[in-house]
Amino acid sequence: MPAAAGPEIERLIQLLARLPGLGPRSARRAALFLIKKREAIMAPLAAALQNAIEKIEVCRTCGNIDTQNPCTVCADPRRDGSAIVVVADVADLWALERAHAINARYHVLGGTLSPLDGVGPDDLSIDALVERASDPDVKEVVLALSATVDGQSTAHYITDLLHEANVKVTRLAHGVPVGGELDYLDEGTLAAAMRSRTPF
Ligand code: ZN
Repeated sequence: MPAAAGPEIERLIQLLARLPGLGPRSARRAALFLIKKREAIMAPLAAALQNAIEKIEVCRTCGNIDTQNPCTVCADPRRDGSAIVVVADVADLWALERAHAINARYHVLGGTLSPLDGVGPDDLSIDALVERASDPDVKEVVLALSATVDGQSTAHYITDLLHEANVKVTRLAHGVPVGGELDYLDEGTLAAAMRSRTPF
C-alpha cells in the first residue's frame, strides 16, 4: 500500500499505533490531531516525554514508578509501615491510590505467575517481597491480585513462601461490586460472594 504521508509522519503513526488501545486507524487520527495542534499539544507532549525519559525511575524498594527514588509512597513517613500491599503492576498500585483504599506501602511484583506465558517465580520480584516481609515491623501482607487463575495461583505461591515470616497474609474480598445487582453477576462471582460473607 503506498504511504499517504512522508516517512516522518509514517513513523509517528507507527509509534502511536503501538500504544495500548490504539489501532492503526486511531493512530492515524491521533497523529493528524497532534500535527494540527503542534503548538498547543504536540510540543508540550514532546517536552513531557523527554522529561519522563530523563527523570522517571523504578523505586528500588517497591517497584513503583516515580521521579524520586525511593518513590513518594515509600518516602512518606505518614504511611503505615506495618502493612505491605502486593500488586501485580504499577497500574494496580495507582488504582488503589486513586481509590484511597489503604494508607500503607506497596510491593510491585511485575506481573503474575503464568506457566503458559513462561513467567516463573524468578521473573517476578518475589524474593525482595519475602525479604521485606521478614522485617519485624511488618505485620501484614495484603495480596491485592486479580481474581484470575494466574492471580490466585500467584497469591497461593506467595502465601506458602511467607509461612516462615511472622506476618498475617490477607487478600482482597471477592464478591458483589459496589452498585452491582445480584441477578447480573456471573455464577463464579456470586458463589465467591456467598463464601466470603461477613457479619452485618
Ligand atoms: Zn517505592
